[in-house]
Amino acid sequence: MEVLITADRIQTRVDELAAEIVRTYDGKPVTVVGILTGCLMFTADLIRRIDLPIRVAFITASSYRGETFVAGRLEIHDELLPDIAGKHILLLDDILDTGKTLTRVVAHLIDRGAASVKVSVLLRKLGRQEVPFEPDFVGFTIPDKFVVGYGLDFNDEHRHLPFVGILQPG
Ligand code: 5GP
Ligand code: MG
Repeated sequence: MEVLITADRIQTRVDELAAEIVRTYDGKPVTVVGILTGCLMFTADLIRRIDLPIRVAFITASSYRGETFVAGRLEIHDELLPDIAGKHILLLDDILDTGKTLTRVVAHLIDRGAASVKVSVLLRKLGRQEVPFEPDFVGFTIPDKFVVGYGLDFNDEHRHLPFVGILQPG
């Protein structure tokens, strides 16, 4: 597998993102909400560097792709989410691709009464976005390739890799 972003570069960048986030919230309490399962490593690494009063929670969002793709279909499960009414949310996802997932999840959190929602993604794929959406904190912009590792999967494989790699087709 071709390594696109080494484990070292990821760790350095996560340090920088955490510092930016701490400056932005300036001592205010934050509820960090990770979108499972891709957010796994990013969430674990980032929250250990955020020196703020934080709560950590998770939400599930699955879109149907490939053969079973239905335009705009996305299932959000928030059974694991505590009461977020009036809370400042920092939403974490592995990658911003078309933007549909994050747009929908942000709307969902606002609907549940969040006071504010800021978004941090590890990766942003260039030239793929279909809906306008600006994340607040971005780790890396990457070319339009299918990537795995550091939480990102193909059929739930490769999530454990400490780097981000390009999965070769076939
Ligand atoms: P969006 O709604 O922005 O199109 O999709 C975001 C979701 O699609 C991500 O959370 C991720 O689950 C999946 N995704 C998009 N691009 C990739 C990729 O290159 N590799 C992997 N493993 N998942 C991706
Ligand atoms: Mg995802």
